[in-house]
Amino acid sequence: MTRNGIHHVTAIAGSAQRNVDFYTRTLGLRLVKKTVNFDDPGAYHLYYGDAAGSPGTILTFFPWENAAPGRAGAGELQETSFRIPLSAIGYWTERLINFGVERTTRFGETVLTFRDPDGMRLALVGLPGIEAEAAWDNGEIPLENALRGFYGVSLMLERTEATGAILSDVFGFAEVAREGDTTRYQAEGTAIGGIVDLRAVGGFLPARLGRGSVHHLAFRAADDAAEAEMVRKLAANHGLHTTEQKDRNYFRSVYFREPGHVLFEIATDIPGFDVDEPAQTLGEALKLPQFLEPHRAAIEAHLPELV
Ligand code: ZN
Repeated sequence: MTRNGIHHVTAIAGSAQRNVDFYTRTLGLRLVKKTVNFDDPGAYHLYYGDAAGSPGTILTFFPWENAAPGRAGAGELQETSFRIPLSAIGYWTERLINFGVERTTRFGETVLTFRDPDGMRLALVGLPGIEAEAAWDNGEIPLENALRGFYGVSLMLERTEATGAILSDVFGFAEVAREGDTTRYQAEGTAIGGIVDLRAVGGFLPARLGRGSVHHLAFRAADDAAEAEMVRKLAANHGLHTTEQKDRNYFRSVYFREPGHVLFEIATDIPGFDVDEPAQTLGEALKLPQFLEPHRAAIEAHLPELV
């Protein structure tokens, strides 16, 4: 079975409560994990996705209440897009009216672009024939209009060749189309989270990380062996070295800076989000990795309350 494509996207937000409201209510995603940033336990790490938190549907945030706004530019992930049924374009145009929604056409597909409350660039891509796919029911958005996982991401890079070579050689993507300054790569056999667009923007100011910026982009590896093989190829064919593997409880990850300066991660599909709480109640309780459990009381006292 092919397991290529995007695993998750992680971005920076301001207010945690505002972030939860927008992604669970306005966009109708499921909060599948409420935990803390393992490297900065004073802040939440919030995961949104489909009912099960499947790879290819997961958008995660580090909400730092006082984060300064980011600045768009070269060397970052510019836009994250989700799949919606083509028939839902009208519904979402109306629903996102307060978020700067604009309708456009890319690669022959109807696309709605808009911003989240922190200025993060998002898009919905209308696709025919996906109405019957399973979707999370947030109790408000009619199921036939609900989001169906990631469509893809676009990266803004000074130069795109070396990054494209990694997508093709290591992550199972192939170049499938070009439009203007954008080259489209598609993961073979992957309907959800299978698109990466590389936009060449030589001469742009470099991006500055902050609220509304994407922190990193994670690609899927089926298991540890598949991840190790990707690490080997990165070193042997591209001269790139990753971090050691880090246990993120729900997946196991390595990180590296790709040639265009975007932080890439490789994350295993296993073990998944039901490893420490039942699938039925994902995201309801604050979950901590074992090494932080002794500090639970102090961590809980410090985190803002979420309703
Ligand atoms: Zn990550």
